Amino acid sequence: ELANVMDVGIGEVIMACMNTGVIVSINQRLDAEIIELVAEEFGHEIEFITVEEDVEEEEVFEDAPEDLQERPPIVTVMGHVDHGKTSLLDYIRKASVTEGEAGGITQHIGAYEVRADNGKKITFLDTPGHEAFTAMRARGAKVTDIAVIIIAADDDIMPQTKEAISHAEAAGVKMIFAINKIDKAGANPDKIKGELAQMGYPIEAYGGKYQSADISALKGIGIEGLMELIQLEAEVLELKANPDRPAVATIVEASLEKGRGYVTKVIVNHGTLKIQDIIVAGENSGRVKAMFNEYGKRVKEVKPGSPTLLLGLDGAPQAGEMLKVMASEQEARQLAGRRLQINREQANRASKRISLDEIGRRLALGNFKELNLIVKGDFDGSVEALSDSLIKLSQETVQVNVIHKAVGQIIDSDILLATASDAIIVGFQVRPSGSARKLAEREGVEIKTYSIIYQAIDEIKDAIEGMLEPTK
Ligand code: GDP
Repeated sequence: ELANVMDVGIGEVIMACMNTGVIVSINQRLDAEIIELVAEEFGHEIEFITVEEDVEEEEVFEDAPEDLQERPPIVTVMGHVDHGKTSLLDYIRKASVTEGEAGGITQHIGAYEVRADNGKKITFLDTPGHEAFTAMRARGAKVTDIAVIIIAADDDIMPQTKEAISHAEAAGVKMIFAINKIDKAGANPDKIKGELAQMGYPIEAYGGKYQSADISALKGIGIEGLMELIQLEAEVLELKANPDRPAVATIVEASLEKGRGYVTKVIVNHGTLKIQDIIVAGENSGRVKAMFNEYGKRVKEVKPGSPTLLLGLDGAPQAGEMLKVMASEQEARQLAGRRLQINREQANRASKRISLDEIGRRLALGNFKELNLIVKGDFDGSVEALSDSLIKLSQETVQVNVIHKAVGQIIDSDILLATASDAIIVGFQVRPSGSARKLAEREGVEIKTYSIIYQAIDEIKDAIEGMLEPTK
């Protein structure tokens, strides 16, 4: 940040620190004295202003083991367009009208809860696809426990399927494969399972560790089995939370609705969210005026793992931001206000994520271990060849990971994945879409595009060997 403000290279600032006898790494906070000395070197004068200390984020809340109770797993359905995400979510929603809720699920509250045969609950995120998932993860939220990757058995493993797998993997989320449309004449589930094995995701029946279910979302075949698998994985994960503490929840969606004001859809992570709780979420604060479940019924409290729609915030926070219960309205307002201020300040300086130039510097400092890459290309062969060559550039000190590779243009979800994983995007014979380019600029994600494979390999190799001269 200091380098940015002074518009000099990061290496120069580090050198200047060394000259004053202080060895620092790239992310290290400098104390006031050093900042003054270094700034002087570059001909700047420093004025210190006092900003109230940020009492932010994770106050570590120690839950006693005996306070922890089982909570429902939170499940996301992802997959290629038309492979049946919506049909599956619809089928499960309709099949699971619980105790006396004759009208069925009527409200979209971002997620819904179903009761499995053994009486336990499962929460499904109600937005199919991985955009929401990735947007949340880009903000550091880990709202999903299990990803159901749905693949149509009458089709191939498509680019979006691969993307969904990459996203789930990068997030460290358990995957279950649902091979869909087995009722169709041309369906060939075995072919899909073979392809999965080839990709490195062998299912259990093939000696692998991944669970899969053959289903028809349309006819309702195999859904019970899929639900059982979800339960099984959930049991293995031992999902627990403490319901007796101030609530923390993740924002799934928020909007302004006519006649209702700001409507916020959340999933509770810890504690129990109650009516009248004083809350803060992102830059917004307020008091829980009302909460609704997916049946449109008012509820007074919501436990961990469960979703709700709430009224009472004074704005719309972004998906993936955390909602927190506070002790007083004044505190909540102050925290929201402070965040607003900090966000404005940060927006003024473009956030700088990792760039190729920086890799060499970090390597020289010895604090760089992994280089995450996303590879996009114009056809399968080139993507595979380039990815393989890039992975082979790994050395003792640095591991090159291709966290996602796919055929096609560089799109928004690539940028979000890069943001969430601190990755660089390598495009071969493809360019970013207009909106992806803008998003990349805003998020400070580096996109390198090449039309010759060698060139791509050479540049990354040079960067890894720390030979690339800073271009500033
Ligand atoms: P999404 O784009 O992944 O949400 O896919 P949809 O759920 O909208 O499904 C795409 C199309 O496939 C729709 O016409 C569905 O009716 C159809 N479909 C989904 N599941 C099945 C299935 O199990 N069997 C058959 N025959 N068609 C299905």
